[in-house]
Amino acid sequence: MHFKRRFFILRVMKIFLSTLFTCCSLLVCSQSMKITGADGLPADIEKVLQDYIRIPSVSGQEREAGEYLKQVCLNNGLHIADFGNEDGMYNFAASIFPLPSDKPNIIFLNHLDVVPESEAEETEPYSGRIENGTIYGRGTIDNKGAAMIQLYGILQTMQNAFDHSPYNITFLSVSCEETQCSGGMAYVKEHFMDQLNAAVVFGEGPSELTGLMEGDFEHPIFGISVVHKRPLWLTLELASKTNGHGSITPNTYANKEMIAALNKLVQKKQKAIFNETNIKFLKDIGEHHHGIKKMVLKHPMLFKPFVIAELRKHPELFSLFSNTITLTNIYSNSDAVNKLSSLAGAYLDCRLLPDTDEKEFLDKMRKKLKNDDIKISVINSLPKNKPSQVETIYYKNMSLAIQEKYPNSVTIDMMMPNVNDLGLFRVANIPAYGTLPIFCDKEEVRSVHGKNEHLHLESLHSGAEVFYIFLNKMVNQNGPALPQEAQTQAAGL
Ligand SMILES: [Zn+2]
Repeated sequence: MHFKRRFFILRVMKIFLSTLFTCCSLLVCSQSMKITGADGLPADIEKVLQDYIRIPSVSGQEREAGEYLKQVCLNNGLHIADFGNEDGMYNFAASIFPLPSDKPNIIFLNHLDVVPESEAEETEPYSGRIENGTIYGRGTIDNKGAAMIQLYGILQTMQNAFDHSPYNITFLSVSCEETQCSGGMAYVKEHFMDQLNAAVVFGEGPSELTGLMEGDFEHPIFGISVVHKRPLWLTLELASKTNGHGSITPNTYANKEMIAALNKLVQKKQKAIFNETNIKFLKDIGEHHHGIKKMVLKHPMLFKPFVIAELRKHPELFSLFSNTITLTNIYSNSDAVNKLSSLAGAYLDCRLLPDTDEKEFLDKMRKKLKNDDIKISVINSLPKNKPSQVETIYYKNMSLAIQEKYPNSVTIDMMMPNVNDLGLFRVANIPAYGTLPIFCDKEEVRSVHGKNEHLHLESLHSGAEVFYIFLNKMVNQNGPALPQEAQTQAAGL
């Protein structure tokens, strides 16, 4: 009895102290903390992002931006490991402990490269201009702003004692994610994966979702991506011996045949495919809806025809329920107006659901084209991947951190229609989650890869605070959770 009482008092004290600790650390966090800039002087995170955006770093030209970012990491006490030092292969890890410490590593993955400026750009693409609390420029969200959110969260965590942390924490910056070239994350994986000792990876992913969807929701919903569709990039080519003068129309010639075949392919509606992840996504969304929508979404298989018809109206949603084929380019080997080209080609950007069989998909495509002379070549593809488990301490703590920062919010696990470098970890069975834990409006989301890319500056602080809360939970754990332990802990057993 006596022991029990003492145990109870100790527990109460522990809870009190940990609450006090959390409150104090959040107080430190909520103040706008200065970090050290690349020039060694104290700087706001906004200023560091501004300078980072001002260094153009279109895929394949990342070195200058990488050197800037690495200097910031170095000046703030992170330990650097270089994984390539040239354009198209500039990669580095910046960690709170040196990598040889061999602690299981919580990795925040980001990329240095940006897509080229849009032709419709109304504002100078690398200005880093700040106006009315918003920062503009290529990369403000994808991925320079997102990287700043990660770095700011890590540096805030380092303000507290972290020596006892069972985990290392690493900020990992890589080249050419946008073009998936071989010098970026693929190169790091091939040569340095052991050094990284990844326990979990957090990278690009969804922001808050209800702001992007129609309808009334009871709570803000934050998506955490656990799986992605796989790219299958193809060229189709058709060579023909007919290359005569354009004044006499032959019965068949390369361009005509190719156009007819492509027409058959793209006119056909993509079939809706339901799997565990996308059914769960609908049910989760339904949970936070009202009335009839709630009932339909919570029973998607019962109302399948209706659900499919609705999904088709929203291509960005339907892409989570189908293998897609997009005809991105058509080319030929001549640009003369009065001479037939002897070769017609096309690029197809196909995105496959995680467990679609590539061979079966290509066989079906051949049948739809109805032209055996068309040669199909694969330019890029990724192997099948399984969703990262949600029953891990990492997912659970990230979900809790989001809900602590944004009271009344909920999180759901989901699939991303596009691939990013997280895929390389998932295929190696390392849990990898995508999240940008901020509120984005439709305009912000549309600006990514488009014109006038911009980010509300407030998000730099709110997003970093989520990562800070998450990291505090991880750093103050007794020890790293192995997958099995993690599952047991998450299930509350
Ligand atoms: Zn990106």
